[in-house]
Amino acid sequence: MSRTRVLFLACQLAGVLPAAELPPLEQRIAAEVLARQEAAVALLGRTVDQASATENHAGVKAVGELYARELRTMGFETRWVDQASVGRSGHLVAEHRGDRGRRLLLIGHLDTVLQGEPFRREGGRAFGSGVSDMKGGNLIMLEALRALHAAGALAGRQVIVFLTGDEEDTGKPYEVSRKDLLEAARRSDAALAFEGYEAGVAATGRRGFSSWRLEVAGSQGHSSGIFGKARGSGAIYEAARILAAFHAQLPEPYLTCNPSVILGGTEATYDPPSFSGTARGKTNVVPGKVVVEGDLRFLSRDQLARAREKMRAIAAASLPRTSATLSFTDGMPAMAPSEGNARLLAVLDACSRDLGYGPMSAHDPGQRGAGDISFVAELLPCLDGLGADGGKEHAPGEFIELASLPMLTRRAALLMHRVMDGAGHP
Ligand SMILES: [Zn+2]
Repeated sequence: MSRTRVLFLACQLAGVLPAAELPPLEQRIAAEVLARQEAAVALLGRTVDQASATENHAGVKAVGELYARELRTMGFETRWVDQASVGRSGHLVAEHRGDRGRRLLLIGHLDTVLQGEPFRREGGRAFGSGVSDMKGGNLIMLEALRALHAAGALAGRQVIVFLTGDEEDTGKPYEVSRKDLLEAARRSDAALAFEGYEAGVAATGRRGFSSWRLEVAGSQGHSSGIFGKARGSGAIYEAARILAAFHAQLPEPYLTCNPSVILGGTEATYDPPSFSGTARGKTNVVPGKVVVEGDLRFLSRDQLARAREKMRAIAAASLPRTSATLSFTDGMPAMAPSEGNARLLAVLDACSRDLGYGPMSAHDPGQRGAGDISFVAELLPCLDGLGADGGKEHAPGEFIELASLPMLTRRAALLMHRVMDGAGHP
């Protein structure tokens, strides 16, 4: 083993950088992160102990104020975007003004699914509600910015930090709840989001979802008439035909179509808010009604449009004396993989290698659900998955690996710095 290699490994073990390989400003940025390790964990504890489940409007606002105070010390102006009109708390928007280099949009969220589990450290882990999703992610973003600020790398830069208060249960309509996020994206050149990290990968694509409802009508009458001209096929055969055709004709990479509930008979009523309903039918009666509800997951707007077109055509090819109507409701849009996203990933990969952390590649979009960054993905290059290394998100016992924080924070800080400096832009 060469002397440099030994030195390099020693540096890695000691948690210090192969300093000579980074330009002085980047060395300084990376060093600032290390100086804040304990203070960062303490801040994480304070944010976790401020309960902020989506429905806890006062708590969401209070944790927003905690972040706002930190951001103001770095020269950000902060404002609260009230969301009472959609039944949510609101969003924190913090802006650092400048006209030097590329403009960044950093996305996180204030709300958690569960609340009430206090912050505690045990071994190399910290536990508590939202400690990973995504107060740990917010912390990485915040401490990366603090390192940039301390090193003087934030001066003259435009950075918008957008922490939504309803990521886990988004206010509707999206035109209202995501209006300010879109507006921030239109004034930015790249968006980075701090949802959970998975080893060696970052998200250049996330699937979106849409729901659909199929309502089938048949000619009700004596069962002996089924298969015949007068009675036709009945609503249940027709629904079965349609679903079997979905199953046979829709599959393609990253597209899924899942019927989640079905009710049929002479009577069928479905209550969407409770995802339940009732059905009845007699063995000697051809059923007149079926309701099916389900979702679609897709990786691009085009893929969604193609899938809906196919589904409409299938539903329209009715069996005798039946008819079907199919309706769609837009859910979250997809973040389609793009060249711009791939370029941001290439910058992250270079940062990671230069810091001695090894290569980074694209996460399989099929493995990732939708997230806030998807709302802006058609407007600018995007990269997600820059957040915390944790587990048991949305469940009791949620945790974060504390040892990974300096690594993830340094990498995020370097990524922000290089992107603002022009890396990753054509
Ligand atoms: Zn999240």
